[in-house]
Formats: sequence, C-alpha cells, structure tokens
Amino acid sequence: MTSARLLWKGFGYILYSYFIFIMSFIFIHFIFFKVNLPMTNEPPKAPPLYPKSHLLAASGIAALLSLALLVFPSSEVEAKKTTLNLELETPVEQLKQQENAHQQANEESAPSPFAQIDNSAEPTEEAAKTATPATPSTAKTEPSHREVTVARGDTLSTLFAKVGLPATAVHEVLAANKQAKQFSQLKHGQVLEIELDKDGQLASLHSKVSDLETIRLTKGANGYAFNREVTKPVVRSAYVHGVIKSSLSASAQRAGLNHSLTMDMASIFGYDIDFAQDIRQGDEFDVVYEQKVANGKVVGNGNILSARFTNRGKSYTAVRYTNKAGNTSYYTADGNSMRKAFIRTPVDFARISSRFSAGRKHPILNKIRAHKGVDYAAPRGTPIKAAGDGKVLLAGRRGGYGNTVIIQHGNSYQTLYGHMQGFAKGVKTGGSVKQGQIIGYIGTTGLSTGPHLHYEFQVNGVHVDPLGQKLPMADPIAKAERQRFMQQSQPLMARMDQEKATLLASSKR
Ligand SMILES: [Zn+2]
Repeated sequence: MTSARLLWKGFGYILYSYFIFIMSFIFIHFIFFKVNLPMTNEPPKAPPLYPKSHLLAASGIAALLSLALLVFPSSEVEAKKTTLNLELETPVEQLKQQENAHQQANEESAPSPFAQIDNSAEPTEEAAKTATPATPSTAKTEPSHREVTVARGDTLSTLFAKVGLPATAVHEVLAANKQAKQFSQLKHGQVLEIELDKDGQLASLHSKVSDLETIRLTKGANGYAFNREVTKPVVRSAYVHGVIKSSLSASAQRAGLNHSLTMDMASIFGYDIDFAQDIRQGDEFDVVYEQKVANGKVVGNGNILSARFTNRGKSYTAVRYTNKAGNTSYYTADGNSMRKAFIRTPVDFARISSRFSAGRKHPILNKIRAHKGVDYAAPRGTPIKAAGDGKVLLAGRRGGYGNTVIIQHGNSYQTLYGHMQGFAKGVKTGGSVKQGQIIGYIGTTGLSTGPHLHYEFQVNGVHVDPLGQKLPMADPIAKAERQRFMQQSQPLMARMDQEKATLLASSKR
C-alpha cells in the first residue's frame, strides 16, 4: 500500500468518525426529545440546549467507533453497512442524513432521520394507492416513497441516482411529455417526491414548483402521464396598523406591510402627502388589503381596499372603487378622487433653486425680470414628468428656454418645461401625454447657468405660482354611483375603526 493510499484511508476514517459523531449526536438528541416531551405540559418553544451528558455520550460513541475502525481496518465496509442499516433503512435516507449532518442538522428543514423513517414506513396517500396489501416482508420488495431535496449542483440524474434509479429513467421521464421537462428545471431547496414500485422502478414523480402549483408524472399502461395541479388562492382581507417611529418603510415593515403594499400606499396618498418631506414621528396608518391564501398559507397580496393616513394630525382616507364602467380608482371616504388633475412636482428628488417672483435679477441677462416659474435643480438626465394629462403644444426649441415642452391640460391650464437636455421617446408636438409620464430630462439648454428645470404654470393664459396654486381635483364619484360607492366605502372605514380599537385595547391590557 502506498503512503498516498494510506493517507487517503486515514482521511476517510476521520470523515467517517465525524459522520458517526453527528449521527450519535442526533440519535441522542432525538431520544432526549422523545423522552422529555410527554413529561412536560408546556408546548416546546426553542429547541433546548444540548446538555453536557449529550455531548459526552455522543463523543464517547464516536470515539469508540473510530477506535474500533482504526483497530480493525479490514472490517470497515462491514461496519459501515451494519451501523447504517440499523438506523437507516435505505440509501436515500443515508444520503439525506449525510447531507443533513453536514448542514448541522437544521431542525426546520431537516427532520430527524427517525422522523423520516416513520414517514416512509407509513404509506402516504400516493403510496397507498399503488401499494400491494401489506405483507410482512422486507423493505426492498415494498413500493416506497422517497423524498429528495435539490441541493446545489443537483440534476434530475443525480437525484435519481440517489434513490437508486438508473440513468435511463431520466431519459424516459424527459421524453414522456413536453411538459415533463419541467422536472429538469430544478430549484435549490425544491423537494422531489418519488414513488418506486415493488421492483424499484419509478411509479410516479411529483414536486411542488410553487406554493400554488404541483407537477406530477404518473406511470400508467401507456407510459408516463403528466399533470399539473394549480391551487386557486382564496382572497381575504387583512388589516394592518402602523405608527411611524423613524421611517415609513421601517414602520410599515414592523406593522407587517410588505414593500410593494407600502409603495402602493405612498402612491395612493402621494397627491396629498409628500412622503419624502412631510412624514413625522407619530404619523399613523391603517390599511385593509387583499391577502391571497392557499392551504392555510399566505401566498401573496392583492390591492389595497382602503387606507387611512394621519400626517401631522391630519387624516387622509382612501377607498378603492371600480365604477360601473369598469374603471378603478381611489377616492376619499366621502367620494372625492384621490388623483388630482396635477401632480405637485414634475421632478422627483429635486431642490427648488428659484421660486416664482414678480421681480428678480436674471443671472444671465443681468436685468430685473419677473421669474414666472419655479426652478428645480437636479442632476443632468433626471427625468421630468408631465404634471397632468394633456396635449403637447410644443416639444422643441424655444429661444432662451432651450429644449422646451408645453402641455395644454383641458381648456384652462398649460404647463411649460424648459432647459431640457432632451425629450423622452414618443413625446412630440401634437401628441398627447398622461399624468406622470416622462417627457424629457433635466439639462441646461438655452439661457441657463446649470442643470435645472424651469417650470411654468398658466391658468387661462396667466402665469401663476405652481407651488401656491390650489391644485384642482380630478373627477369625484358620479352622482349616479354615489350610493353604490358609499355602500362599499362605509363598511371599509368602519372595519378600520373597529380593528384599530380592538388592537389598541389589546395592547393596553
Ligand atoms: Zn427659471
């Protein structure tokens, strides 16, 4: 025997001892649980810390085993087989257990080997269908249910190999059906459930590909049949209440409102509340939203149905409503539109560098001139949004304004955007734009000292201060639909009041 081979062998023993140590540890830990759980009346909370006696016993067993192996090297193969067969019945479980041992036996994702044996001994629903009447025979000849978890680097071939299926089985599965190829698109952590018939051949294969979808391949008289089971989630309404301590996102997260719903809420109230500047500690929100549930598990969220935001003592309400024509929008609880005809600021994340004034010294012309708009300084290339829906009167050069867009909104209003670097795709004279649509980018074209947007607002041909302008409201609920709206709005508002009262009462206790 060469020294290299000896080294290999020694290394193998060390690995094997480690494995045995982990196994013994799990074994003793399991016994501890089994013995202690029924004796205590309290439900188990966190897993108990391993007592010293555990560690001692586990290391003792491991030490003894490794010693035995070192002393009787020729019994290696035999020893391996017998010890494993005592605790684990099949190669799958062996492999699973090895993996688990390496993962430090994570309690949640990897149940104890004994629990697995319990499971496989108990025929599952699927196994029961194909199982022959129970005969007291050995495990080898019984149909069995196997579970393999996809680890990094696993393919269908490696997983099949783990349960003892030949490579040809993979080809049979993939060739069975076009959709069966989905079984080869494995995700890390995905669980593949495999039923083997009494000859150890593949009887069926199924896997949950998402919370709502299971794919299944079943062997029949005419080969494999593929089918997909899709669970339709039940939509229910959920409630959250939050109080702002530091930031909106932190408070929302603490309250249990996810990022996407938080963004929705900010956008619903975005016409009234400037979420970048107006938020204060102590601001509160209540939200009733759609929650999608399948098999008792929350699998997603839908729309916000109603919300209330209290900003610096002032409360704003929002109710989602779909009118008879099928258009959905948010309205205040009393039926006014949340969506205003104009958005406050055509540039996000900009600094007001010059306000509207009757007279100021022009920085380039060096003369006293009225500044008939508001300047927003922002980095070159920052998007500029249309303040409202409208028709583009101009998208081109206009003297000292440089690249300019002028939009006509309805009959009375016009907005102007100057010094743009360029226009957004599709924005051209004679075209139309939607509120919030990007029309161009911050630049410094025309008579300009640095990158900024010069923004003007006209009402019936007269320049007004866009910051001082009382922004007009979009259409409220139509009179004909008012009753219908209130029938939906009132219970939603009442629910928020009720839920909040319950919540506050329970937190005072
Ligand atoms: Zn200006």
